Amino acid sequence: MTEDKRPAINRRHFLIGSAVGAAAVAASPQACSRPAAAEVPHRWIDPSRCIGCGSCVPLCPMGAIRLDEVARTDPEECAECGVCQRSRVCPGDAIQPGKLEWPRTLREAFSNPLVEHKSTGVPGRGTEGIKTNDSTRRYQPGFMGVFVELGRPALGARLREVERVVRKFTEHGYPAVADNPVAELIADSKTGAFKPEVLDEKVISALVEFILPRSAFAELRALLAELSEEVETVFNVSIALRAVPDGASPLDPLFGPEVFRLPNGKVNLGLAEGIARQEG
Ligand code: SF4
Ligand code: SF4
Repeated sequence: MTEDKRPAINRRHFLIGSAVGAAAVAASPQACSRPAAAEVPHRWIDPSRCIGCGSCVPLCPMGAIRLDEVARTDPEECAECGVCQRSRVCPGDAIQPGKLEWPRTLREAFSNPLVEHKSTGVPGRGTEGIKTNDSTRRYQPGFMGVFVELGRPALGARLREVERVVRKFTEHGYPAVADNPVAELIADSKTGAFKPEVLDEKVISALVEFILPRSAFAELRALLAELSEEVETVFNVSIALRAVPDGASPLDPLFGPEVFRLPNGKVNLGLAEGIARQEG
């Protein structure tokens, strides 16, 4: 049997991500601030209206609401998703949207599914993405679409972690796909460096897409193995390939026998119209 020299993907970042998320909430000094101004630059809770019932606390996907006598948001950890306010649980209408300005507006754009990304006109993650690759025709025969999603509720992702991923792929000659809200954050297309003012912003999740030749699969594994040691939050990776005419999975020869597989459970019906027209 030949030795498999492909790099293993280390899952240490799952543990690092958990630790970082928990420590950040506990350590933030701003959790104790009590906003009083009418135009606070983040979502906040008006202490004069809060009765301390605690109903909003479990609804926050980032654990960014603390309850003492009254509730307070932690502006460092709040991703501006708006769930606390949209849920309408507050009996005193104490939860206030604040007046968000750039770059904090990015938190809302990436984390509130009702807010459209200005750069793409798409709400949610702001991209048609891999799920609709048939209609966007981004991934042509011989290429694979690679989609890296960083962050999850409870952990989130600082945009500096998204930048790490973009820099790594760019170093290897694979720039981020342009029709994606992450593209507007990039200040230097040669390195993938983001605008410095956005790096500390925290979002629930963000996804970034790349296009690689199918022949670069081993390089992709190596690159992801490096990122798994460097990125300080969770991330998952999806790969999109054109289906082959005999119905076999085009991923099988790439991943090899060590990857556990389930049959595909999701088919986006009707989205292949563009390809059918294109391929006659
Ligand atoms: S806007 Fe979202 S993240 Fe911020 S406090 Fe409300 S629920 Fe939590
Ligand atoms: S739901 Fe409203 S009143 Fe109750 S703790 Fe939250 S902010 Fe205060």
